[in-house]
Amino acid sequence: MKFSKSFIPTLKEVPADAVIPSHILMLRAGMTRMLSAGIYSFLPLGYKMIKKITKIIREEMDAIGGQEFHLPALNPKEIWEQTGRVEAFGDTMFHVKNRDLVLAPTHEEIMTYHVKGEIKSYKELPQIWYQIQTKFRNEARPRSGVIRGRQFLMKDAYSFDTSFENLDKSYQAHYEAYRKIFDRCGIKYFVVGASSGAMGGSKSEEFMVKSDAGEDTVAYCEKCGYAANIEVATSLVEPVKRYEESKEIYEIHTPNVKSIDELCEFLNIDERETAKSRVYIFNDKPFMILMNGNDEVNETKLENYLGGAVRPAHPDELKEITGADAGSIGPIGFSGRIIADNRLKDGNNLYSGANKNDYHIGGIDLKRDVKNIEYADLRTVQKGETCTRCGAELDVFKAIELGHIFKLGTKYSEALGATFLDENGKEKPIVMGSYGIGVERVLACYIEQNYDEKGIIWDERLKPFDIHLLGLNMKKEIVAETAEKIYSELKEKGYDVLFDDRISVQAGVKFNDADLIGVPVHVVVGERGLKEGKIEIKLRRTGERFSVELDNLYEKLKEVVK
Ligand code: ATP
Ligand code: MG
Repeated sequence: MKFSKSFIPTLKEVPADAVIPSHILMLRAGMTRMLSAGIYSFLPLGYKMIKKITKIIREEMDAIGGQEFHLPALNPKEIWEQTGRVEAFGDTMFHVKNRDLVLAPTHEEIMTYHVKGEIKSYKELPQIWYQIQTKFRNEARPRSGVIRGRQFLMKDAYSFDTSFENLDKSYQAHYEAYRKIFDRCGIKYFVVGASSGAMGGSKSEEFMVKSDAGEDTVAYCEKCGYAANIEVATSLVEPVKRYEESKEIYEIHTPNVKSIDELCEFLNIDERETAKSRVYIFNDKPFMILMNGNDEVNETKLENYLGGAVRPAHPDELKEITGADAGSIGPIGFSGRIIADNRLKDGNNLYSGANKNDYHIGGIDLKRDVKNIEYADLRTVQKGETCTRCGAELDVFKAIELGHIFKLGTKYSEALGATFLDENGKEKPIVMGSYGIGVERVLACYIEQNYDEKGIIWDERLKPFDIHLLGLNMKKEIVAETAEKIYSELKEKGYDVLFDDRISVQAGVKFNDADLIGVPVHVVVGERGLKEGKIEIKLRRTGERFSVELDNLYEKLKEVVK
């Protein structure tokens, strides 16, 4: 392709609003443009990369027996109501004004709808159905470019099986296919155990890329490979002490003491001796959670434990429910449900708020004083804590989720009545899995991992062109003629070539654009070299350059272009 005839609008400046490298570079390399917050247009170079990625995805999905669908994005709301997900998605779901239609944020419902209508017998199972299609989600804070769009491309696949054992096989096949897909895209990723969240189901794993731009947090053990989303991660922490003797409960005047740190300083105690209380609302009812010291509650863990969405009580609600403001609330005298983190299990001689401003209570014995207390894993793992598997130190860092695989079980088939008749003629719900990959995220994550101060660095597995040919001063006949000749010969040999044939563009600009676009191999045709019969080859990743005789060019390219 000739640069002069192509639309690759590169930018010299960093566009306003773009902060993460992939976002900046996709704009600067002329791959994308923003239309509105979280809504991106793909220009030819960007779309070419999308097509390369979807080709890899298709090949690997087809290899495990996947059959490609194309479902409508516009869906009857009624189907989504049957699974309760209009409510579960809430504001994230786009609704079509004056119609009972929604824009699909994913397609479990619609695939299940078709399975229900068509599949009757165990003889027709298993099935793997997939599509690569546009999804719509009204994300609250669209940022990071295409990594969190309000419209994005997803490869979503669904498996339909007769039993949970067979689901295990379909799940495993997807796991392997995902590894091949991300390996072929040249992405460095790792797999973490994850929360199934609003999807429901028993097991799920996420394919993650370590990145400061990520909105997920993971705990990772370098030594044994334990990796989990912070929403499910656990660590080995010492439980609170249970002293032989429980003190009596007593009230302490603690003027202006609000935080755990202030309380510890005021009473000269350790944070492990305190139970911090927070009030949440679940199903319109308040409940209290207790954490040890400054341990942070993980709301996803809490929601998974309760099986639904929670929200913190507002300050005025708090006062009404407990009689005190945040910082002075506690379990003693609280009449609602109380859930404490496992770390507090059966602790005694603890300090907490008194449900009265400026007062705390000491001598709390959770076993004795808090009837019907429940314990659950609610705490957020912190960096440096001990790995439960091997005892080494855990690292905690940000990551971007590339893909997610779920064992759904029968949640959707039961809600929508998708059943089959087994060998004995008995009607059973179809057992499902669902498997997603964010296509734009694959592209953006590759760039997050492969760039330098000059631009993107593609590699042999994933690249927009095989060769970037630069004709430096195209006004000089010798340069123009030689470069044109090389261009047609390379094309004949089957290379995909981007030929910078622009006449009135400075050499410096051409070099900058070539580095920015990042094709792995650059072939530079300049007047000075040609006088000695030489052409320069540059490898983008290493910056290595070498001069070759014009006659040896194609031999050398065979070596460097894979
Ligand atoms: P996240 O936690 O990042 O919002 P999710 O858990 O909502 O992701 P899924 O519903 O599992 O994501 O969707 C499958 C895949 O689709 C994700 O792994 C991700 O790669 C991609 N994806 C999800 N939301 C977006 C988005 N807003 N923009 C781009 N890709 C997305
Ligand atoms: Mg999401």
